Amino acid sequence: MHQLSIWETQSFFRHRDIIIVGSGFVGLWSAYHLKKRYPRKKILMVDGGLIPTGASTRNAGFACFGSVTELIADTLHHGEEQTLEIVEMRFRGLEKINETFSNKQIGFESFGGYELISDSQQIELGVLRSNIDYLNRKLRKIVGTPKAFRLHDSAIKAFGFAGVSHLIENKFEAQLHPGRLCQALLKKVQSMGVTVLSSTTIKNFTHTDQPIRLETSRGITLNSDQLLICTNAFARELLPELDVEPARGQVLVTSPIPGLRFRGTFHFDEGFYYFRNLGERVLLGGARNKAFQEEHTATMETTDLIQGELEKFLRETIIPGASVGIDYRWSGIMGMGGAKMPIVRQIAPGIFCAVRMSGMGVALAPVIGEQIAKMMKT
Ligand SMILES: Cc1cc2nc3c(=O)[nH]c(=O)nc-3n(C[C@H](O)[C@H](O)[C@H](O)COP(=O)(O)OP(=O)(O)OC[C@H]3O[C@@H](n4cnc5c(N)ncnc54)[C@H](O)[C@@H]3O)c2cc1C
Repeated sequence: MHQLSIWETQSFFRHRDIIIVGSGFVGLWSAYHLKKRYPRKKILMVDGGLIPTGASTRNAGFACFGSVTELIADTLHHGEEQTLEIVEMRFRGLEKINETFSNKQIGFESFGGYELISDSQQIELGVLRSNIDYLNRKLRKIVGTPKAFRLHDSAIKAFGFAGVSHLIENKFEAQLHPGRLCQALLKKVQSMGVTVLSSTTIKNFTHTDQPIRLETSRGITLNSDQLLICTNAFARELLPELDVEPARGQVLVTSPIPGLRFRGTFHFDEGFYYFRNLGERVLLGGARNKAFQEEHTATMETTDLIQGELEKFLRETIIPGASVGIDYRWSGIMGMGGAKMPIVRQIAPGIFCAVRMSGMGVALAPVIGEQIAKMMKT
């Protein structure tokens, strides 16, 4: 047992009103909204990583709310009402990011987004047009115009893609720098008075009596009146009853490609593949559908199989014929489950969770943070 000095007990490790576990986007936006609502509350945020180490600093930086084939698939699997509700949450989340930070602070760039429809997908033009019309009608109230999506096939040649029969444009989509957004949020919540402890994993907690007691990997016990768990893919380590499974996402980044012919964020195959320009580089991720079983893991590694699939897509479709090196490869872990709607709820008196952001937590987190702050009446 680590022996604490009286000074430590009365300062760094003193009793808090609220402890937040997990300092990814959801933990950070929750801390922000809690502090805005309850400025006098003492809040401590704890993360097992040296920096937030799950998905928030390891994603692709798409500021997006869903592509056409993905939203149509979601409508079929999860219903129209839930799909539209999630789209609205994402759209409002992006607005909140823009209200809170300048473009420069977080590397926000509005190049627009696109979805590639390949020859091999064999989607008839008539079906595509009617899906676009349907979504434009349904999204009109959310985005404020009847034209969220439009066919933009003339750009295929200019962008230099191969094997692509149609391109759908979404001019509301943008890209940002997730590392800078995390840092900016961290700075903001610290300036509001939130204390952040890194490299401290919460092993378990007890809440039979007040205060709630949290056992840490450092042998130190923390205590608080309320607990908020924002550990996303890792949620079942503390809350085994939840429907949250880890899903690994792998990414690669090419070396700079002088004269790269496209700017923007791109989706393919119901969102299973995604790429964007990063200056003159290409960032490409996904292909999880090529090995669902192996990628159902919280191990942060890359594999030859998925990286090979990504490189094949890069060389055959995105920059056909070009010879380019790969400078970065990494993976991050998403939290998925039977439903796409995040789990934002009270677990027991004083215990709350906000987890399961699926593949679009950048946009969702600001709204989720606001929801949970409202729920955690103190
Ligand atoms: C490769 C990849 C690409 C993606 N691309 C996009 C994209 O372009 N756009 C988009 O909107 N979304 C994208 N996502 C999804 C998005 O990144 C996530 O939905 C979002 O970051 C989830 O945030 P979070 O705070 O819920 O979880 P996380 O960022 O995973 O944060 C959870 C934190 O909890 C900590 N933790 C876990 N267990 C414990 C414990 N017991 N004690 C203490 N700390 C603990 C972890 O260290 C971690 O920092 C992508 C994800 C991946 C993996």
